[in-house]
Amino acid sequence: MTIDTHAIAAAVKAAHVQYAAAPGGANASYIPYLASVPATLAGVTVVTIDGQVFETGDTRYEFAIESISKIVTLALALEQYGADEIQKKIGADPTGLPFNSVTALELHGDRPMSPLVNAGAMATVSLIKATDAEDRWAQILAMQSKLAGRQITLSDEVNQSEQTTNFHNRSIAWLLYSANTVYSDPMEACDVYTRQCSTLITCADLAVMGATLAAGGVNPLTKERVLTADNVPHILAEMTMEGLYDTSGDWAYTVGLPGKSGVGGGILAVVPGVAAVAGFSPPLDPTGNSVRGQLMVAHVAKAMGWDLYHVPGSGGAP
Ligand code: GLN
Repeated sequence: MTIDTHAIAAAVKAAHVQYAAAPGGANASYIPYLASVPATLAGVTVVTIDGQVFETGDTRYEFAIESISKIVTLALALEQYGADEIQKKIGADPTGLPFNSVTALELHGDRPMSPLVNAGAMATVSLIKATDAEDRWAQILAMQSKLAGRQITLSDEVNQSEQTTNFHNRSIAWLLYSANTVYSDPMEACDVYTRQCSTLITCADLAVMGATLAAGGVNPLTKERVLTADNVPHILAEMTMEGLYDTSGDWAYTVGLPGKSGVGGGILAVVPGVAAVAGFSPPLDPTGNSVRGQLMVAHVAKAMGWDLYHVPGSGGAP
């Protein structure tokens, strides 16, 4: 498929002009570090599967990856276990409840349901085949780096901020333990999960990560095959089901692309076989998704006609 690069550049620019200062939302406050990030930051980036980069705004500002790290660890677990085992042990359904819900676990017989909520993400961390916590962490960080195409690093400041306040997640890890649905020491799973949320990425990194998924597992910048092609559709399906938590359905309905957000203000949408669109801006809606990020990404997708559910040739506007 030929890509209209002028149209992408124009769409990225227009998205930023229209929505970079859109009102509404508030920085995440339950993690002290995130509350301190300047709320005015906003950027949007598109990376195509052949490695072309289009970006406007604060696309090189390093922010906390947070929940977007969940797709990376899912990818690693899929590589190690295959799709059936992950579906059996973790799940592939939306919880319909907030990302850190304890109720969701209780409702579903302590099965996490999705690797993209905190319970499922910690269970996924615990599955990674490793000799100890440091080995587990090193593998996850290496996978984040391969997907982004550059060495990603932990922010000690973010990690410290999260490790000293993550009591709710520790409770979830113990609940998993009591139900035999965590596969390492539960506090180790919570610790490594907290670290994976505390790495720093840019909006441009995020778009490269997404473009690697859009390209079926080959990083378009480094040309390295990072993931088995067969695993990529499973990641995209999980993103569709739970990538934006309890508003994943609304995102599918209005944008029609697999997405993933984080409380650091990052958001990603993947257009399989074409490109990825990443947005960044700290203020979040009540669900924990970046207000401006959603608007900017949705604008680019709409302008480009990128919607998986649009029927080609039907005449309907995607
Ligand atoms: N580290 C955050 C948490 O566990 C990530 C949540 C998110 O980005 N939705 O609460």
